[in-house]
Amino acid sequence: MKIYKLTIRIMKLDSRDNIGTKANLEIIIMSKAASSFETYKIKQSIERLERKKSFNGATCLVTLYMPNGTSIPDVTQQLVDERGTAANIKSKQTSKAVTAALSSILNRIKQIRDLPNNGLVIFCGMTQNGKVEYIPITPVEPITRKMYVCDSRFHTEHLREQLEEKEQFGLMVVDRETAAYALLRGNHMTFLRNLHSFVPGKHGKGGQSQRRIQRGTEILAQDHLRRAGEVASKLFLEVPDLKGIVLGGPSLAKENFVRGNFLDFRLTDKVLGTVDTGYTGEQGIRELMEKSSEILKDVCYLKEKQLVQIFLRELGKDTGQVAYGQKEVMKAIELGAVKTLLISEELDVFQTKVLCPQCNYTKQEAVKAKEFVEFEEEILKRNCPECGSSKLSIEDTIDFVEELGKRAVEIGAEIEIVSTDTEEGMILYKSFGGLVAILRYSIREM
Ligand SMILES: [Zn+2]
Repeated sequence: MKIYKLTIRIMKLDSRDNIGTKANLEIIIMSKAASSFETYKIKQSIERLERKKSFNGATCLVTLYMPNGTSIPDVTQQLVDERGTAANIKSKQTSKAVTAALSSILNRIKQIRDLPNNGLVIFCGMTQNGKVEYIPITPVEPITRKMYVCDSRFHTEHLREQLEEKEQFGLMVVDRETAAYALLRGNHMTFLRNLHSFVPGKHGKGGQSQRRIQRGTEILAQDHLRRAGEVASKLFLEVPDLKGIVLGGPSLAKENFVRGNFLDFRLTDKVLGTVDTGYTGEQGIRELMEKSSEILKDVCYLKEKQLVQIFLRELGKDTGQVAYGQKEVMKAIELGAVKTLLISEELDVFQTKVLCPQCNYTKQEAVKAKEFVEFEEEILKRNCPECGSSKLSIEDTIDFVEELGKRAVEIGAEIEIVSTDTEEGMILYKSFGGLVAILRYSIREM
């Protein structure tokens, strides 16, 4: 996360001084990638946690938030007390489950000397499969709130807040006499302001006085665009992390607005595109939001697209500073030669071992990380194909991407998970098996 903050500063300097060199650009992209992998993996864990249910719907799932600086002996004492209370719970089953969860946490936090800088969140309890699961998560940002909850679900809200989209987009719909402004963060739109100027229509019968009126009308229209620009500055220049602006409007007014330099140059640099809308005002903003999804998608995928392009460029130059295919990439990681590791989302698969404790039947199954919770549920319902027992369980789970990511982090490489939503992402997946690396040096002779 430290690297990430540093990069933001570099980016801001660059955009102000306009001296962003290619080398600089690469640093920016790659430093951001490291944190994007972290975030990606945590997001997945949270999604899995949110879909987990407690055993028989009992109130037995423990969530424990420990900010940095939390005294472990204090927490230990609190958990011992809670365990004492749990013994009095009327339902034997719930009492047993809560006790088991608390004991499991107590056993593990004994071994903790120091909490991570951002604190630690522990989720523990008997889930629908009847086993006590212990899932610790190190947050991406420091947590400040200390919290203990025992409920029929895991409480992930505060971790989720940290992962919310921070980048914002400005939306503006402008025509001859109105302007409307809004901010878009993730899928959430905040309407900011409506502006209305009085500009009479253009139509008239002609004649001397009519021409004079038209001139007057034009001046009013220009004044309106100037005002619209001033309001845009007031609203958008203050927004931190403003990633871009999309302009909309029903007429040529929006084009005149851009070409006539009515927008502050710092905002003009951020205009991602213009879109025709049939409406103005708040309704126009809504229309613009729908119609600009393609433009915004491109921006969100920019980083991963650029990384794949860097890989393809290096490959084309035949410098030997790339690796692709599992064997080659693994070798590059072992040698510590990887600068950037690109992994297709399609490769994010768990290797699991399903076991029947009755007859020792085992089967290896690969499950997409995204679909793991459904797989767990399905295993509970499935019967052993050998002996018909209904006690099948998932014995072993290997998260290939997580393992790979850990090793890449150890050698200081950056990691980017690349979706298949873009052409570049499809090339990575279809033509290169979904796993490639940009190297620090050629490893051909090694
Ligand atoms: Zn069996």
